[in-house]
Amino acid sequence: MDIQGGCYCGAVRYRAQGEPQMKLQCHCRQCQYFTGGHPNVVMGMSNVGFSFTKGEPKEYCKSDLEGARTRVFCSGCGTHLLTLSPSLPDGVLIKVGTLDDPSVFGMPVVAIQTADSQSFHHLLEDVPSHERWVVK
Ligand SMILES: [Zn+2]
Ligand SMILES: [Zn+2]
Repeated sequence: MDIQGGCYCGAVRYRAQGEPQMKLQCHCRQCQYFTGGHPNVVMGMSNVGFSFTKGEPKEYCKSDLEGARTRVFCSGCGTHLLTLSPSLPDGVLIKVGTLDDPSVFGMPVVAIQTADSQSFHHLLEDVPSHERWVVK
């Protein structure tokens, strides 16, 4: 797989090569902030094949939250491009909506942190879900 994507305004672009290590939707309360309310849909790719090809994104990590993910975003338009997880040190979690062609994602293989689900969230049939799950 050789995929490209970027933010809404086009200032930040990236390329990722290799096979997805993980395809999931995360219902956690933190992700709800960055999606606007719905689950976050991400694809894990090795950071060996990942690079930014244009622009420099900003990063934010909440210092008072244990195990907090680092959120990588465009400082111009605010689009969140990646999540970096301490439990996935060799990979990046690409936010599927920033892919040039989001359809390459296919379907998530798992739904996680559903304990934080809102009543308007949807779970997919045939996709296993976990109330609390740590990406290993
Ligand atoms: Zn942007
Ligand atoms: Zn989450």
